[in-house]
Amino acid sequence: MMLELRNICKTYLQGRMEVPVLKDISLSVEEGEYLAIMGPSGSGKTTLMNIIGCLDAPTSGAYLLEGEDIAGLGDSKMSDVRLHSIGFVFQSFYLLSRQSAQDNVALPLLYAGVRRRERQEMARQALERVGLGDRTGFKPTQLSGGQCQRVAIARAIVNSPKILLADEPTGALDTKSGEQIMEIFQRLNEEGVTIVMITHEPEIAAHAKRTLHIRDGRLVDAQGKPLTDSPPEGDVSEGSFGSPIPTEVTTPVPLPGQDTAL
Ligand code: ADP
Ligand code: MG
Repeated sequence: MMLELRNICKTYLQGRMEVPVLKDISLSVEEGEYLAIMGPSGSGKTTLMNIIGCLDAPTSGAYLLEGEDIAGLGDSKMSDVRLHSIGFVFQSFYLLSRQSAQDNVALPLLYAGVRRRERQEMARQALERVGLGDRTGFKPTQLSGGQCQRVAIARAIVNSPKILLADEPTGALDTKSGEQIMEIFQRLNEEGVTIVMITHEPEIAAHAKRTLHIRDGRLVDAQGKPLTDSPPEGDVSEGSFGSPIPTEVTTPVPLPGQDTAL
């Protein structure tokens, strides 16, 4: 098993109010999988990705990455895991605008202590893998959005991570550039990279081999029914008397003008 989340909960403290954002998430991803996680804005997708990517710790629950309990690791071990096991792709690229494509891609190698000559060679090869072998000296301002995202993918894979995590990787791109990104993901997956991709676009999710849905911090099936390991307790249909989910006093009340987008 590549990674396993067991009963993960994440609660943010906003003032004195506890805001539950992830509620009892359990999921397993096997080596070589290509998983899409879909859900509307505000449903907890980025929070979930940050936990899978060891950028944030859950409030409760267990996270096993290649069998190792991540919760037990200290900060420096966590950043080691991020550096060597996980590649990140974000909606907004996060490239350094004054650096060339090649230097952007080489950056994780610098942190990993790879020597300069080797860094440059590995970065060039990674750019070739995303079809940008002829753009190594270009800066982000001299590249299109789709090309910038390909640079970001090259940076994500330059360390040969086991897992590629992508949060809305095509969210800022036109359809054609988005399709090119999906072709690259397809190829990387065929080469053995495990991919977990977050998106709210069905056409993008359709490229994955498996799709999970998240609603209001819970994993649900395509019809919106909660996915649980245990059999449902009684009738959970809307308005039911015996609903196992109590009305929580901690449920946040949206303030006027707040972007809830639920
Ligand atoms: P998505 O990526 O699906 O749009 P997020 O995971 O970004 O959703 O956010 C889910 C919910 O958690 C939102 O209601 C958001 O306001 C809340 N949230 C996210 N990060 C924080 C934080 N650092 N502090 C408090 N609330 C947060
Ligand atoms: Mg998000």
